[in-house]
Amino acid sequence: MNVQENYSLKNHNTFGVEVSAKYFAQAGNFDELKNALEFAKARDLKTLFLGGGSNVLFTENFDGLVIQLNLKGISEKILNENQVLVTAKAGENWHEFVQYCLRKNYGGLENLSLIPGNVGTSPMQNIGAYGTEIKDTFVNCTVLSLETLQTEVFDAEKCDFGYRDSIFKKEGKGKYVILEVSFKLTTNNHVIKTEYGAIKTELEKMGIENPGIQDVSEAVIHIRQSKLPDPKVTGNAGSFFKNPTIPLEQFEKLKMKFPDIPGYPNGNAVKVPAGWLIEQCGWKGKQIGNVASHELQALVIVNKTGLASGKEIYDFSSLIIGSVKERFGIELEREVNII
Ligand SMILES: Cc1cc2nc3c(=O)[nH]c(=O)nc-3n(C[C@H](O)[C@H](O)[C@H](O)COP(=O)(O)OP(=O)(O)OC[C@H]3O[C@@H](n4cnc5c(N)ncnc54)[C@H](O)[C@@H]3O)c2cc1C
Repeated sequence: MNVQENYSLKNHNTFGVEVSAKYFAQAGNFDELKNALEFAKARDLKTLFLGGGSNVLFTENFDGLVIQLNLKGISEKILNENQVLVTAKAGENWHEFVQYCLRKNYGGLENLSLIPGNVGTSPMQNIGAYGTEIKDTFVNCTVLSLETLQTEVFDAEKCDFGYRDSIFKKEGKGKYVILEVSFKLTTNNHVIKTEYGAIKTELEKMGIENPGIQDVSEAVIHIRQSKLPDPKVTGNAGSFFKNPTIPLEQFEKLKMKFPDIPGYPNGNAVKVPAGWLIEQCGWKGKQIGNVASHELQALVIVNKTGLASGKEIYDFSSLIIGSVKERFGIELEREVNII
């Protein structure tokens, strides 16, 4: 294991923020991971695990050891004539893993095409898009407890998945490293989900009447490419905020004042699109210094000039939170992990 000192993380976070780690190591296998943890323990260093760096905002240099997990490998086990269990190691790139499954005609992950990041991070916030979340196909994940250094298997119940949420962002925060994740996918009789978002319209544009999983994936890729900024071109971490869920009563009061407010009821609560709230406050496309809200999707904050510091991006997000709170009385929560 090679530990580098005062290592630049600019290429390891999709915001492209220039920060450094006191120490940086890549773990390509379990032994290297254990060695890295021992290195940190011996020097009493705090540790941070990093996948693709597409859901983090570094607001300062990291005064500890950053460990990038590069564990690779995919294995499969046929469960019955219609289902397969597919297990991928943490360091597999998420989109490449989805494409691998599609090539094998394994269905269930196609709506999650083109989400940046790694497989090992996918349970962290129960990644989701276009009407699908990983919890829909998730079976379990193997984790390493940082307290006991023993591996444990967490099923979906133990992961306590919620909307962009899991145990790993709550009481399990900083306590576990996810080593591999298993999904139960279909091998035939695929369930095609085209109801959400613009998938149907996109498939029509593509001239496809009876879509298969590959078609859905292609439609999702087209939509995402047309709407979301490519982090390789403009630094960003996707949606910066979660869509807030508010009590029905509060939503009804807001509806009287703002008749156009969109909302998706769920029992006694209503989910409100954060992008709409931000846009109404005049933030869409607005730039302050090096930071801006994306001109096509207000929910995405971008490092517009490529020169923004993490602190600048964080302060920009605080201004948005303040505006939305003042106008609508709703407190937006950041989806991105602030480091
Ligand atoms: C353009 C763009 C679009 C996006 N679209 C979506 C979307 O549609 N849906 C969605 O849900 N997300 C989306 N995201 C957010 C992001 O892609 C996901 O959250 C992804 O799962 C992050 O993976 P990562 O490997 O890059 O995580 P990182 O940013 O490397 O890490 C995120 C957090 O997880 C921790 N971590 C990383 N690996 C491990 C591990 N193995 N074990 C324990 N902790 C770990 C890190 O310490 C950090 O706190 C988008 C991001 C971008 C840039």
